Amino acid sequence: MTTQETIEMFDKYVIANYGRLPQVIVKGKGCYMYDADGNKILDMFPGWAVSGIGHCHPKVVEAVQTQAAELLHIDNTFYSEPQGILAKLLSERAFGGKCFFCNSGAEANEAALKLARLYTAKEKYKFITAEGSFHGRTFATVTATAQPKYHEGFLPLLPGFVYVPFNDIKALEDAFDDEVAAVMVEPIQGEGGINIASNEYLSAIRELCDKNDAVMILDEVQTGIGRTGKWFGYQHYDVTPDIITMAKTLGGGVAIGAMMATEEISAALVPGKHASTFGGNSLACAAAIAVIEAIEEENLLDNANELGQYTKQKLESLKEKHSCIDHVRGVGLMIGVQLTKPGADIVAKCLEKGLRINCTHDTVIRFMPPMIATKKQIDKAINILDEVLSSV
Ligand SMILES: *Cc1c(COP(=O)(O)O)cnc(C)c1O
Repeated sequence: MTTQETIEMFDKYVIANYGRLPQVIVKGKGCYMYDADGNKILDMFPGWAVSGIGHCHPKVVEAVQTQAAELLHIDNTFYSEPQGILAKLLSERAFGGKCFFCNSGAEANEAALKLARLYTAKEKYKFITAEGSFHGRTFATVTATAQPKYHEGFLPLLPGFVYVPFNDIKALEDAFDDEVAAVMVEPIQGEGGINIASNEYLSAIRELCDKNDAVMILDEVQTGIGRTGKWFGYQHYDVTPDIITMAKTLGGGVAIGAMMATEEISAALVPGKHASTFGGNSLACAAAIAVIEAIEEENLLDNANELGQYTKQKLESLKEKHSCIDHVRGVGLMIGVQLTKPGADIVAKCLEKGLRINCTHDTVIRFMPPMIATKKQIDKAINILDEVLSSV
C-alpha cells in the first residue's frame, strides 16, 4: 500500500482523535523506524516512551514468538507461570510488594486509586494530585490529571480530587485533611514537561500520608523500568511509596500495565473488587519478563545513566550556540530542553531531517532515547538538532 492509500483508509474508517503526521511507519529496529516511503528515522522518542529498550528488541521478539506458540491468553480463573514470574521479578526490583496486572498506564492508575479507596475505606474519599500531572484518559485518571485542557468537554468530573501546585510542600499541607485517601504524583512529570520532584517534596508526601493514614501512590508509568537509570524513579529519592504504577517500557512494545502495592495494602483487593480480562495474559507477561532480562543482561541501567549524562552535556553545549535554549533538565534518559519559544516547528524540522523527538507543553523538547542507544547515535541526533536550531 502507498502512504496515500493508508491515509485514505484512516480518513474513512479510523476515528480522527489523534493529530497524525502524514507518514506510515512499517518497521522498527533498535533506535530506528522506517516509513512506507523508505525513509529511515532515528527515534529519540520511541513509541511515546514505550519502546524504552528500542524497537523490536530481539529478546522480546523471541520471547513473544515462543510464548505465542505455547499459550497466548488464559483468563485469571487459573494460575499461569509468566504472570507469577513477572510479579516476582518486579517485586524484587522494587519494594517487595504484590502486583496486579492490566493493559495500560491509565488502567494501572485506575487500579491504584480504587485500591487506595478500598484500603482507607469509609470516610476517606479524596485524592490529591499535582498541577501539570498526566495520569491517563479514563474518567478517574483524567480527573486526576490536573490540567484543565484535558477536562474540557467532560465536566462534571469525578468528585473528590484536589489539585495542588507541584513541588509545593505548603500547598500540600494545606490541602491535607482526614478525608484524604491518597496522594498521587509522578516522581518526574513526563507529559508535564520533565519536572523533577524534589527530595523534600516526596519526603513531605511520605510524612503527611503516614500522619494522616493516607496512601502514597507514585505514577511510574513513564519513569519506571529503567528510564531514569534505576528500575523506578522513586529509587533516586529517600522515600518508599505504598503503591507504584507502571506501563510504557514494561512490555517492550506489547500492551501491559501493572500496579504494585505493599503486602498490607494489597490485601484489601479481594475477589470481586477489581479485575481485568486481559490483565496479566501470558503473551504480555512473557514480553515483560524478556524486557527485564534484557535490561540486566545488557547493563542497560548503567547505559541509561551514562548516556543520560552524555546527552545532557551535549544538549547543554548547544545552549552556548543557541539562545532559544534556556536550560536542560532530566534524570537518566528522561531529558527536557526548556526553550524560550515554542518548539513544534523545531520538532517538525528535525523529523524532515530524519530525527524524531517530541515537544510538550509548547516549549519543552522531550529527548527520551531508548536505553540501547549508543553515543554515536546521540551525536547524530544532536547534530541534526543543532542544524535545525541554526535554521530557525
Ligand atoms: C502515558 C502515561 C499515562 C497513561 O498511560 P496509557 O497507557 O496511555 O493509559 C499515565 N501516567 C503517565 C505518567 C504517563 O506518562
